[in-house]
Amino acid sequence: MAVLPVVKFGDPILRKKTEPVTNIQDAVALADDMFDTMYEEAGMGLAANQIGVSLNFMVVDISQVEGEDGRPLIIINAEILETHGQADMEEGCLSIPDIRATITRPAEIVLGYLDEDGEAQEDSFDGLLARVIQHEVDHLNGVFFTDYLTPAKRSLINKRLTEISETGAPSTGIIL
Ligand SMILES: [Zn+2]
Repeated sequence: MAVLPVVKFGDPILRKKTEPVTNIQDAVALADDMFDTMYEEAGMGLAANQIGVSLNFMVVDISQVEGEDGRPLIIINAEILETHGQADMEEGCLSIPDIRATITRPAEIVLGYLDEDGEAQEDSFDGLLARVIQHEVDHLNGVFFTDYLTPAKRSLINKRLTEISETGAPSTGIIL
């Protein structure tokens, strides 16, 4: 088991769009450590650039959440092909500790990706799983959930985001 440090807001790697994965085996080997890291931090998803690797893959597992079932997923070279509906859900982020906010996103997505065997898949996701995957796809494109906040709400967290870039954590938490 290898728990890796999670890269925090302010590190330029998190603003950079990741490159497509070409070596599936290398990505899958790294995904093992990413699962360890995600479970240790009680997260539901983790993008490769959050552990400092600028490649397009993520790990997701919502089975730890009460009332949700599912299995650990490795999602490589993800592309959202379709979106449907709209839902509000509170989000947090391992790279932006102690800040949570309700964000509006599509309720359902159709995702094209490669699985851990390198096989092309096209699947529909809804509910919490659709939410987590969209959050991670954003990471892989250099986007944070806080980017969706209105300027008024954003002004409430700007100081905290600066604190995270400087020390890794805000002096106080907030839920918006
Ligand atoms: Zn995140």
